[in-house]
Amino acid sequence: MSKHGTNVARILAVAIAAIVCLHASLGAQLVITSPVARPAPYREDQILVLPKTGQTSALERFCAQAHVERLAGFPGLGGLQILRVPGDETAPGLITKFQQSGLVAYAEPDFLRFLNAVPNDPKYTDGTLWGLNNYGQNGGTADADIDAPEAWDVLPFASNVVVAVLDTGVRYTHEDLAANMWVNPVDGGHGFNATTGTNDVMDVQGHGTLVSGVLGAVGNNGKGVVGVAWAVQIMAGKCFTNSSSSDSLIIACMEYARTHGAEVIVAAFDGPGYSQSLSNAIYALRNDGIIFVASCGNGEAPSNVPLNVDANPRYPACYAIDNIVSVAYTDRRDGLGVLSNYGATNVALAAPGEQIYTTWSPSDNFYTGIYSGTSLAAPAVAGALALLKERFPAETHHQLIARVLNGTDPLPALAGKCRTGGRLNLRQALSPPLQLTLRSTGGQLPMELQLNAGPNRVGVVEISTNLTSWVPVFTNTTSANGTFDFTDLVGTNSPRRFYRATATP
Ligand code: CA
Ligand code: CA
Repeated sequence: MSKHGTNVARILAVAIAAIVCLHASLGAQLVITSPVARPAPYREDQILVLPKTGQTSALERFCAQAHVERLAGFPGLGGLQILRVPGDETAPGLITKFQQSGLVAYAEPDFLRFLNAVPNDPKYTDGTLWGLNNYGQNGGTADADIDAPEAWDVLPFASNVVVAVLDTGVRYTHEDLAANMWVNPVDGGHGFNATTGTNDVMDVQGHGTLVSGVLGAVGNNGKGVVGVAWAVQIMAGKCFTNSSSSDSLIIACMEYARTHGAEVIVAAFDGPGYSQSLSNAIYALRNDGIIFVASCGNGEAPSNVPLNVDANPRYPACYAIDNIVSVAYTDRRDGLGVLSNYGATNVALAAPGEQIYTTWSPSDNFYTGIYSGTSLAAPAVAGALALLKERFPAETHHQLIARVLNGTDPLPALAGKCRTGGRLNLRQALSPPLQLTLRSTGGQLPMELQLNAGPNRVGVVEISTNLTSWVPVFTNTTSANGTFDFTDLVGTNSPRRFYRATATP
């Protein structure tokens, strides 16, 4: 099982909020409106120090006593040294020791740098994939998208997460899907075909291949498209061979997924019949913490006039079970899709679904952009949940779903059409921005601040008088609405102080 997403998740787990500068001594307060600082990940295993002039020998002795190994030096840079962090020490702890030693001009982390990569998949690069990044191309509205490139700065891989696609199978040999197919360790297959009772899940009809490309087409391979997750493990549950099927086959694939490690399921189909068995099968998934993403449907054949599913329920989208995330679709102008069902109670959110260019089944290098509908929107939400599961593996399905729903962009066209009234925003789901704001006004003391960081995050407020050394003074967990308040009982004659905050995860 590939782990290449895990380190990225760990090193980006702490974000730093904008620094708030408060000038308490004059009774006047100044807020620096700096942009939210980017996370600053660093190597855990080594640090950089610059010896003070004439202290090189003393520094050597200090290092020997502290069991710190010198890995490299740069005589042309004033004797800059790279030091190994001993096993019983942390990089920040060692930096503090050196700063306090009086022997160094400075000690600092060995910060990580990243290549400024955007995926090289041609249909992303040329703007065809408007739902991921919309800059107004092809008559669209700029930013009518899920902010995928911004989110991929946080995490593009869900390599450890298995997502089951309950559909017509998947063309698992496709050039832009093959590397992201789940592999059954027992039989080497890629899922289960309930229509034949075998592990042959090849997609002939095509729908499951469309869905899979939106979810997890291979990112940055120079080919075709890119999924919401560049890497993920796609498990095929083949329960359709043409445009209709029935609950018995669907349930068989659900049970396969449940018992073979799926953590997210995509169901891009619907029908009007209330099935207790289908409901019970989803409840069994729910009890195992598996998230069930369901498209809410595109009207009803033959007219395809969109339905209010609160009045005309469609299943599985409309079961009242808390692991179901039902999805409507939006167009490239952030309107509700012309075919999209909707429901203020039974539909959770929307995602881009109009003319979505994606992988298709006729051959291993075939793609199409002719389809629209909630079937193209649901897998975008599933991809978001896969990335969230990768980033927050210990969280419950409630917590992960809440991150998606709390992170939506509210849209006028979706008001009253779904519970959140919003469209998926991958960046906000994956990493809610931190905001530290001043609540007390007009120079009043004490200083009252509020951290806004998204729900259930552990925030730490730090104070500095010089912007160099920071002291943590307050730790709390943000409430369900994403905030906590902090009051600093600073005196009127205190020196100028700065505040900042970090949050985990
Ligand atoms: Ca955007
Ligand atoms: Ca690709």
